[in-house]
Amino acid sequence: MISFNLRCSKDHEFEGWFRDSATFEKDLKNRRIECPICGDSKLERALSAPNIATSESRAAAKAEQAAQARDKMRDTLRAFRRHVEKTSENVGDRFAEEARKIHYGESATRSIYGKTSLEEARDLHEEGVPVAPIPWIEEVQDN
Ligand SMILES: [Zn+2]
Repeated sequence: MISFNLRCSKDHEFEGWFRDSATFEKDLKNRRIECPICGDSKLERALSAPNIATSESRAAAKAEQAAQARDKMRDTLRAFRRHVEKTSENVGDRFAEEARKIHYGESATRSIYGKTSLEEARDLHEEGVPVAPIPWIEEVQDN
């Protein structure tokens, strides 16, 4: 069964139930459907308000979901950044240099973080220095 919202020539709106859409199209064309209020058979399909509301709320729900996912991701990245900041030393632009020193035992073993170019990171990796790129969220705010 399938339902369609119909409107007669006098603007009465009602819902009609049909076996399938082909049956509906045929009945509509042959004027076999009548308005339950005035008996008019000159009908047209009406866009029902509930359906519009449904698709709107569905879009809103989707947007809400996306926003929540984005917030969650941001929270995760913030928490991750705080964790790194708490447990590692920020060596800034000296990252590659410090990472090498630690790796070759010239500097105290510890966790560090900082900035380096992709090229430098690749070099470090090839030298066997354990480095990993991390997603770094720039704005850190408490909600
Ligand atoms: Zn009517």
